[in-house]
Amino acid sequence: MGVPLRQALVVAKYLMAQKLRGKKRFPLVLMLEPLYRCNLECEGCGKIQHPEEILNTYLSPEECWEATDECGAPVVSIAGGEPLIHPEIDTIVEGLVQRKKFVYLCTNAILLERWLPKLKPSPYLTISVHMDGMEKLHDAMVAREGVFEKAVKAIRKAKDLGYRVNTNTTVFNDSAPEGMRELFNFLNDDLGVDGMMISPGYDYPKAPNQKVFLNRPEMIKTFETILDSPERKKWRFNHSPIFLKFLQGKKAMQCTAWGNPTRSVLGWQRPCYLMNESYADSFIELMEETEWDRYGFGRDARCTNCMAHCGYEATAVGSMLENPLEGLKAAASTIGGGPSK
Ligand code: SF4
Ligand code: SF4
Repeated sequence: MGVPLRQALVVAKYLMAQKLRGKKRFPLVLMLEPLYRCNLECEGCGKIQHPEEILNTYLSPEECWEATDECGAPVVSIAGGEPLIHPEIDTIVEGLVQRKKFVYLCTNAILLERWLPKLKPSPYLTISVHMDGMEKLHDAMVAREGVFEKAVKAIRKAKDLGYRVNTNTTVFNDSAPEGMRELFNFLNDDLGVDGMMISPGYDYPKAPNQKVFLNRPEMIKTFETILDSPERKKWRFNHSPIFLKFLQGKKAMQCTAWGNPTRSVLGWQRPCYLMNESYADSFIELMEETEWDRYGFGRDARCTNCMAHCGYEATAVGSMLENPLEGLKAAASTIGGGPSK
């Protein structure tokens, strides 16, 4: 059975089980941040501005596995910071794969070639590489020359060795639609990545460059232009068709931040991966004691310009519970990396 289908089936079964149990809120993707330390300082990043003592704190493999067991989501996205700086990242990944979690290891790929010998290819492991544009734009966004070239080399090597490789692109002010199309053609056709993710940049108040962010109407216009392309049919997006419609302003949705709970070195982050209003001591406390209805578009000013997949993709996939056919398509594309429709 192909990996995407396997993932889609596991997620579909999981969603049905939640429905049968009558669960109103449940996790779909655990966002695991085992460290905040990074080897880059990207223009639009709001994750790395912590005091040294926090940057020096790493979750142990046991803490990562405990959080995963506590949460129970079928998919785990390892983010940060740069996960490949963690000295035990291979052990963390191995323990998650043994638990049959679908692991997305997010990285800027600077250290990827060094780690590949220690990361076993597996149908449960996808390496997800940060790619914000073709060479000039990407190196400008990550504020360092040579990173694009290094990432491309690492992606080619990982693909040659049989890893599943995805990319993750954040769209900013300077992401001209024609440049994004060129990037997606390159990733899709030349590098042959298994899936691509796109998201508008979230306007983190602490990001080094506040001028890079688009507001909501600008984002919708940019995504409409990028995706209104005959080439789009061949692009293998790792998103549901519903989420892509949402990005183009063709579908209204509300955020379901509880779908992507975040466990960082500081605890279970409230309310979402993007905002750190407070921390819960346990996953159950996060789910039961967070006032979820306070967050989302029109409810909290900090959510006004957020259209990120960590808030809205779970809403799209959750539609399976209301419309099984549409939802199955969403699960297949989102978690399985199928082509967008
Ligand atoms: S966006 Fe990612 S790679 Fe860039 S500084 Fe932030 S954590 Fe590091
Ligand atoms: S809309 Fe975005 S910023 Fe607001 S709670 Fe949802 S994910 Fe977080």
